[in-house]
Amino acid sequence: MKLIHPRWKIALAAIFAICLLCHRLPAQRISVPVDTIKQRLSFYKGNDTKRETALKQLFLESGCSPANLTEQTVPSRKQPNLICLLPGATPATIIVGAHFDHADEGDGVIDNWSGASLLPSLFQILAAAPRQHTFLFIGFTGEENGLLGSDFYVKQLSPEQLTTYKQ
Ligand SMILES: [Zn+2]
Repeated sequence: MKLIHPRWKIALAAIFAICLLCHRLPAQRISVPVDTIKQRLSFYKGNDTKRETALKQLFLESGCSPANLTEQTVPSRKQPNLICLLPGATPATIIVGAHFDHADEGDGVIDNWSGASLLPSLFQILAAAPRQHTFLFIGFTGEENGLLGSDFYVKQLSPEQLTTYKQ
């Protein structure tokens, strides 16, 4: 696997953009307690179906409404992509992604539950104040099998979505 896949460069750029946005928000409105982040990180245990369930639950707990939480079926994958929509004042969209599946050889805490379990916290922070951009927080499935979830996601985007999603 490449150290940084081009697609993840987009995610890193998005996280950097979030940091910039956070600095412009009042401090008291942006914090997620460290204990909450640690607790979310602790749900790495179990197979990918358990991780999917845990991530879905964390999105709901963090305030992503069921109406804005989509399970996108991915061909040949048991688990779907989980997509949490955070509407903004404009349709210009920033995607923040992390995969929640893991390789069988380990527990997959760093790669990549550390990233996936952070998505609900990033959602929570950005949801706390009005925002120009629309955000999509996506827990991708099947990354360890060859970027299956993110590859499917990109390929099914409409031409209109491709023009409104920031790169
Ligand atoms: Zn990975």
